[in-house]
Amino acid sequence: MSQRFQSLEAYVPGEQPADMEYIKLNTNEAPYPPSPGVIAAINESEIRKLFLYPNPDGTRLINKLAEFYHVGADNVIIGNGSDELLAFAFLAFCDGGRGVCFPDITYGFYPVYAELYDVPYEQIPLMDDLSINLSDYCGVNKNIIIANPNAPTGIALPLGDIEAIIKSNPEFVVLVDEAYVDFGAESAIPLTRKYDNLLVMHTYSKARSMAGARLAYAIGPEPLIGDLRKMKYSFNPYNVNRLTQIAGEVALQENEYYVKMREKIVKTRESTVSRLSEMGFLMTHSCANFIFAKLPGVSGYELYSALKARGILVRHFSKPRIADYVRITIGTDEQMDRLCNEIALIRTR
Ligand code: PMP
Repeated sequence: MSQRFQSLEAYVPGEQPADMEYIKLNTNEAPYPPSPGVIAAINESEIRKLFLYPNPDGTRLINKLAEFYHVGADNVIIGNGSDELLAFAFLAFCDGGRGVCFPDITYGFYPVYAELYDVPYEQIPLMDDLSINLSDYCGVNKNIIIANPNAPTGIALPLGDIEAIIKSNPEFVVLVDEAYVDFGAESAIPLTRKYDNLLVMHTYSKARSMAGARLAYAIGPEPLIGDLRKMKYSFNPYNVNRLTQIAGEVALQENEYYVKMREKIVKTRESTVSRLSEMGFLMTHSCANFIFAKLPGVSGYELYSALKARGILVRHFSKPRIADYVRITIGTDEQMDRLCNEIALIRTR
């Protein structure tokens, strides 16, 4: 391996053990399948066309996304998951002279990309209650990445705070990663028409039940999207495959299905929060499809391990500030019943 990457610490995705069948509450996927039209659209006739490359621009899907979000086609780019679009953003906007900042506790891929692309980065500590302190991000003179709602806390910033950050850093790009926005926060997409330094990123992996298809998009002013496009065409022009492009279009047409699905997930989240707090758990205020919870007297790792032994996967992070917590993806009502029942048994052990 090249010298410069020997000490790189790669991102570690949520585990997918194959030794038994688990209830998988560790990677924030939706617990429900894609909408019926998506399933029908990935049919034999489309599969037969797989000998052809996909449309590299993703023109049809981009036009549909533009229409859906009331922006122009030049304001949208699609990617192979937000992870790929994030990589393009690091390449396009950051270098030794233009570093980046993000919270110390946030999506674990941000520091990995900063290391990979040799970008100076600052990890700004969240406050003691794990929320973002707005003034820490005003006038920082660096590019900024904010996950809103944040992960793994689920805490959302109001749109007014996001706007204050954008306004106070006019010479730098503010990337708002809205992977979980549809579960209870306000999107900054309308602000992309007003500010030339704002990029908003969405994924189909969570609120549109398509983590396995790998699809995401960024929306922003045309010059920033053009820069991302340049990266894409210098890296992998056919980054979104044919079947995924079709699935992405149909999912937009069937938006109502996903709105209902999200309502159901939010309802399940709220009932799980009540049950866990009755059992003595402390949680951050989650606006996402997961909860971040700790049980005083039981370490996060103990809880994670005990649940895994009982067939339920949740995510534990060993970072000292959050080592007491586990992140639990909201599954179906039945899955959350199982979770609560197993936790009750663990507590009385
Ligand atoms: N951003 C955040 C905040 C995430 O939690 C995730 C999922 N782990 C991603 C981006 C990446 O999502 P995708 O599946 O679109 O690559």
